[in-house]
Amino acid sequence: MSKQSKNPETIALHGGDYRSDPATTAVAVPIYRTTSYQFNNTGHAANLFALKEFGNIYTRIMNPTNDVLEKRVAALENGLACVSVGSGQAASTFAIVNVCQAGDNFVSSTDLYGGTVNLFTHTLKKLGIEVRYADPSDPKNFEKAIDEKTRCFYAETLPNPALRVFPIKEVSDIGRKHNIPLIMDNTAAPIICKPLDHGAAVVVHSLTKFIGGHGTVIGGCLVDGGNFDWTADPKRQPLFNEPDMSYGGAKWGEVVPQLTGANVSFAVRARVCLLRDLGAPLAPDNAWGIIQGLETAPLRMQQHCSNATKVVDFLQKHKNVERVIYPTLHKGAIGDRTKKYFSGGNGALVGIEVKGGVEAGKKFIEALKMFYHVANIGDARSLAIHPATTTHSQLTPEELLAAGVTPGYVRLSIGIEHPDDIIADLKQALDASGKPSLKAVS
Ligand code: PLP
Repeated sequence: MSKQSKNPETIALHGGDYRSDPATTAVAVPIYRTTSYQFNNTGHAANLFALKEFGNIYTRIMNPTNDVLEKRVAALENGLACVSVGSGQAASTFAIVNVCQAGDNFVSSTDLYGGTVNLFTHTLKKLGIEVRYADPSDPKNFEKAIDEKTRCFYAETLPNPALRVFPIKEVSDIGRKHNIPLIMDNTAAPIICKPLDHGAAVVVHSLTKFIGGHGTVIGGCLVDGGNFDWTADPKRQPLFNEPDMSYGGAKWGEVVPQLTGANVSFAVRARVCLLRDLGAPLAPDNAWGIIQGLETAPLRMQQHCSNATKVVDFLQKHKNVERVIYPTLHKGAIGDRTKKYFSGGNGALVGIEVKGGVEAGKKFIEALKMFYHVANIGDARSLAIHPATTTHSQLTPEELLAAGVTPGYVRLSIGIEHPDDIIADLKQALDASGKPSLKAVS
């Protein structure tokens, strides 16, 4: 019964097929530290390689520990299948190269993590894949950017630093008119937002953040929503409709539903072609570490979000804060999207402009005592960073502004400590940011 539960708290502990280890009856998910798997006989081996039968072949492509993680994340996202990879960056890379080849393009939101901008603007360009950026404040910008070579749309659910919730349904509706799937990076809003329910075809995660949740493990994944018809327009999706000579001429859009009975061509292609050829699997030890985090992620998200709400209330009243950035504080259509797409919380990320610009912002960060000053989000601990000089420092001034990074912006990732302690630390650091420095006094 628990397996069919729709409740994230239950899915995180019981989701997927795992009940106990078939060999030992161990209840906790074991780490299967193996590279390879004994075949029953030569026919079995041949069938596995020909995808006539599904089973374990080699850990670069699949592993039973990873399998439990993948099934639970798929269930949490209301998806049909999931493929884990070595990092969130690998997940974004795989998401694009699973649908685009040299000469193709894709349309991406301008509101993106800086590392993703680098990947799209520079590295994918060198591979012959063109990114076209669209400002998501008007969903029609996505439609304006497409041509016959456009293979997918890409965006983040809750992009920082602007923290403007993405118009998921509006853009996925446009995409579906043209047989273009929407791929959503849902790293910053697991559990509180389900992009697949609003028309996205694929979700990617950096599992490093809220799902792992303890700042201990790097990992990523791609969730196939099973809700996109890859064969509806063969010219639009050649990688799913033309014979793949690396796999005996398989046409992935046709063959996967025939073999599996499920519309999971995206996930199967990512696993058997991209993990096979590009590598970058998630190590089973790391999958295990992420499972430990996943099991309590729904509870932690509640605490992250409720603490963030209290922090936002406090910051809005502090005299040394110029501006607070939080999804619910945006006005008009952008603010309405938070209500439309989020439930159970509005996220743990909070932005502030400290009065006094860059210098006051730096002073504020340096005065924090409990918050960690790190390039991460989604840790159980509270974190702070100055994006313009760190995570987003490789962007041009225009790219910085397009991403919403102003010089004095400080990003906070609110942890699960007691809210009084979080607020006390912010208060003493904000008070310090407004005081003249010793140098200035002397
Ligand atoms: N996507 C988002 C929204 C991120 O914030 C990050 C990392 O900060 C990534 C992807 C990349 O994830 P990873 O660090 O696991 O490679």
